[in-house]
Amino acid sequence: MTKKLRVGILGATGMVGQRFIQLLESHPQFEITALAASDRSKGKSFEEACTWRLAGEMPGFVKAMVVEAPQPPLDCELVFSSLPGDIARESEGSFAAAGYPVISNSSAYRMDADVPLLIPEVNHQHLALLDSQRNNRGGQNGNGAEAGGTLSKGFIVTNPNCSTIMLALALAPLHQRFGVKSVVATTMQALSGAGYPGVASLAISDNVLPFIQGEEEKIEQETLKILGEFEIDKIQDAGMNVSAQCHRVNVSDGHLAAVRVKLDRSAAIEEVSEALASFTALPQELGLHSAPEYPILVREEADRPQPRQDRDAGKGMSVTVGRLFPDNVMDYRFVALSHNTIRGAAGAAILNAELLIATGRLK
Ligand code: NAP
Repeated sequence: MTKKLRVGILGATGMVGQRFIQLLESHPQFEITALAASDRSKGKSFEEACTWRLAGEMPGFVKAMVVEAPQPPLDCELVFSSLPGDIARESEGSFAAAGYPVISNSSAYRMDADVPLLIPEVNHQHLALLDSQRNNRGGQNGNGAEAGGTLSKGFIVTNPNCSTIMLALALAPLHQRFGVKSVVATTMQALSGAGYPGVASLAISDNVLPFIQGEEEKIEQETLKILGEFEIDKIQDAGMNVSAQCHRVNVSDGHLAAVRVKLDRSAAIEEVSEALASFTALPQELGLHSAPEYPILVREEADRPQPRQDRDAGKGMSVTVGRLFPDNVMDYRFVALSHNTIRGAAGAAILNAELLIATGRLK
């Protein structure tokens, strides 16, 4: 049996951290050997530090592990990070500088020019940025000078914002086949997307909140980078217009987006539907452990997708698309849905790590 890679989770007690633990409990390639969180949790056993918020019991193997500070050294060969954005930059940078590969959920490094913003089905070519990352910032295998004390060893790979992943994954086959000129996306995002305790119950009961800090900008900027082309040593942003409006709704898990697209070339609705439903890519070819058989599931029912019914599709890794129709203003409209802490966070990061192993960038 192949030896498992020993991994640490930064932000292990949070909503995404708990999802990492759940998804990695019986993973064939990774074993959790370190857990880190804030000063509030540091020095406590995980069982003492963490109130388990996911369905089922806290996995037994983490209960007695002692929570550490999110600073190197940690007893692991790779870190998955689910730290809040404001502290992630320093913490993740220090792990990369100390030689750890960092696979991050947080927004801190996503838009850095030499950091891949990866969805394995969409832009695995962007992993070539890791060569310039090493050269720019100095690295184990690079010959660049040490730069600014940020990344001298190791590397950072990020996954996109939870709504952006769903949108970019649904747009990818349309962009490949027909070209996407413009996109307008209106999201309805679940409560777990705000972490725990997140939004106050009195603010969200009988209510919809039409503001999520920084979310619209993230969707608009990240989508262009993800769907952009790798050219020599950088990403050329996709030449499309993206407009996003984001809302917090009273749903526990599962982000939904009402999407309208204008295409570069005309396409019949059957072609659009077929492009979405038949989309598979490198993770499916390689048979990666967390890759869903169908990255995009197209539903024909008038009232799908719905968060409660569709968020667990493909073990939470598929995006469900429904209500695909011609649109009077743009060309087509549809509704997309995915699980925000699985495909939108921990599952996405784990799939990224699986791809890094399969492509020889992680040993
Ligand atoms: P969360 O439930 O609030 O958890 C935050 C985690 O970070 C906890 O483990 C917490 O530890 C730790 N932490 C907080 N402040 C810290 C500090 N000053 N130093 C060290 N550790 C600290 O948040 P979350 O929803 O899991 O989100 C985590 C990250 O993932 C964020 O960057 C978020 O934007 C991103 N993300 C979340 C989702 C989602 O759907 N929730 C999706 C995609 C990306 P303590 O328990 O010790 O306080």
